[in-house]
Amino acid sequence: MTEIEVDRPRRSLTARIVIGMVAGLALGVSLNMLRTHGLDPQGWVGRALQSFLIDGLFYVVGAVFMASLKLLVVPLVFVSLVCGAASLDDLSRLGRIGGKTLALYLGTTAIAISVALSAAALVRPGDGLDLPTDLEFAPRVAPGWTETLVNIFPSNPIQAMAEGNMLQIIVFALLFGFAMSLSGDPGRRLLAVFEDLNKVVLRLVTVLMEIAPYGVFCLLARIFADQGLGAIAQLASYFSVVLAVLLFHGLVVYPVLLKIFSGLNPRVFLRKMRAPISFAFSTASSNATLPVTLETAEDRLGVDNRVASFTIPLGATINMDGTAIMQGVATVFIAQAYGLDLGPVQYLGVVLTATLASVGTAGVPGVGLIMLALVLRQANLPVEGIALIIGVDRLLDMVRTAVNITGDAAVTCIVAQSEGQLDAEAFQAP
Ligand code: ASP
Repeated sequence: MTEIEVDRPRRSLTARIVIGMVAGLALGVSLNMLRTHGLDPQGWVGRALQSFLIDGLFYVVGAVFMASLKLLVVPLVFVSLVCGAASLDDLSRLGRIGGKTLALYLGTTAIAISVALSAAALVRPGDGLDLPTDLEFAPRVAPGWTETLVNIFPSNPIQAMAEGNMLQIIVFALLFGFAMSLSGDPGRRLLAVFEDLNKVVLRLVTVLMEIAPYGVFCLLARIFADQGLGAIAQLASYFSVVLAVLLFHGLVVYPVLLKIFSGLNPRVFLRKMRAPISFAFSTASSNATLPVTLETAEDRLGVDNRVASFTIPLGATINMDGTAIMQGVATVFIAQAYGLDLGPVQYLGVVLTATLASVGTAGVPGVGLIMLALVLRQANLPVEGIALIIGVDRLLDMVRTAVNITGDAAVTCIVAQSEGQLDAEAFQAP
């Protein structure tokens, strides 16, 4: 190794991802400003920029990056959870882990939505808004709760995997893993194969993460070139209330809960979460970020596979505190914008439905906004109000997805620590 290389070590992957993020954001915003101030979008420079750079290079690299992340989700969740379930010594432990995880997931979501409602009721971001009269929003119809429950159980595991139906994959992997643990020698032999597979798939995660700095750069450059930051100005107070509550939840509520319930150092936790947070921010998808969250939980936070392989995929599917925060603030904002006041019973209804709506929100971009229709309908508010906030939703989606996955990891650490399944040395390791 030459002296120069010794003096300037290669930057860590996380640092390169963060650089990619900041550079992509800056370039995107500059391109957008260039287009809105002066550069003729129909002139040849404007058209070339759009079709070769923004919708060409940035789109291709960003889409390939997203696909390479999504590609890992189903094999990783299945293999990793089969290993976890097959090596659980007794069923009651899974029951305990499941119970604690669900209680914490729902509890943190209820805290999130309550803080969001209180902040929105105090700041009143929707007051005095001049409503456009031509608002339109066509909501999708959500399935009923009976159907939702029945849908958790797969009738065809291959179909569940092909569709990426996470809850069905979780149920099948748990059953398969149990059957393995009950099968004596054949089960043990198969477990050895699955453990090897798990190592290989996790290795693939780290290999593909090498392209992350470029992927993140292109995703952000394209989004900000198309969106710019102009929409924020019109909805500044709504945007800042959602953002403030999201930051409060991520930087205060989780760290405090982590400290109280597990005694773990929140600073170390947040530092190690930088990579998955950057992925979540750039992709706006808890699902696509899942491989990175799982890898971080097991390899960097020291959580045993038996806990993380269950809690992280479950969290990426049902635990959406950031989404609940947006839905809470948006509901109050829309009510205020239409000059309608919510009473205490309606607030309670919003807490309940927003918790359920966030559970039902899939971990992909933009679904939280679609599920907001459910909350509005329950509170008897006009669903077209959603059209008011669409303009800034993508930006908020990025931040709320980062909060969503931070919540999954925080709860995972708390549950693992309480079960004696967290390696404190690995957690503290630099
Ligand atoms: N994009 C969010 C997620 O993947 C869901 C949403 O709020 O739209 O976690």
